[in-house]
Amino acid sequence: MIKLHDLYFKPFISEQEIDAAVQKMVDGIADDLGDEVPVFIGILNGSFMLVSDFVKKYPKPCEVTFIKLASYEGVKSTEDIQRLIGLTQDLTGRTVVILEDIIDSGNTLEEVHRIFENENVKQLIIATLFYKPEAYNKDFKLHYVGMEIPNKFIVGYGLDYNGLGRDLPDVYQLKTTQHMTNIV
Ligand code: 5GP
Repeated sequence: MIKLHDLYFKPFISEQEIDAAVQKMVDGIADDLGDEVPVFIGILNGSFMLVSDFVKKYPKPCEVTFIKLASYEGVKSTEDIQRLIGLTQDLTGRTVVILEDIIDSGNTLEEVHRIFENENVKQLIIATLFYKPEAYNKDFKLHYVGMEIPNKFIVGYGLDYNGLGRDLPDVYQLKTTQHMTNIV
């Protein structure tokens, strides 16, 4: 168990399991894209570790860049999403693969679609390492999912709780205090 600020987190997904999930995503995308040279776009900050591991495993030529959005304060998703760092590169006719650390409500993904709808890309592919199906409330297709997880807050492997935990190689889940109330 670890403590970050005021909260306790318990071990949830090991570094080895994450590695296998990343490899599965790489294999699927590399197979499906053939000789296409994709532009991988990581959504900062959370995706930095995924993107680094992902492109090291990717067996063919590719481009890599990042954009930055904000959608989370503490452990609650907010509707307030902003594009903070834009793309400078012309993506006309390119195959763009969005690499997301986690898809929760889908608000960030909606913003990503809004950003790319005017970019005249050849195709927009969405890949996420973690996906919370119980929280997702959009219709956008998720083309590649590393792992489905329950609707609970996690940290590690790029994901933080108020700035802490991004550096952890394993993923931890928020430990919710259980109050045992037996009312007869
Ligand atoms: P969405 O916009 O889909 O609700 O959430 C996407 C973003 O919220 C992610 O890129 C991530 O920054 C943050 N997020 C969603 N779920 C979690 C979680 O369980 N833990 C952490 N640390 N961040 C999360």
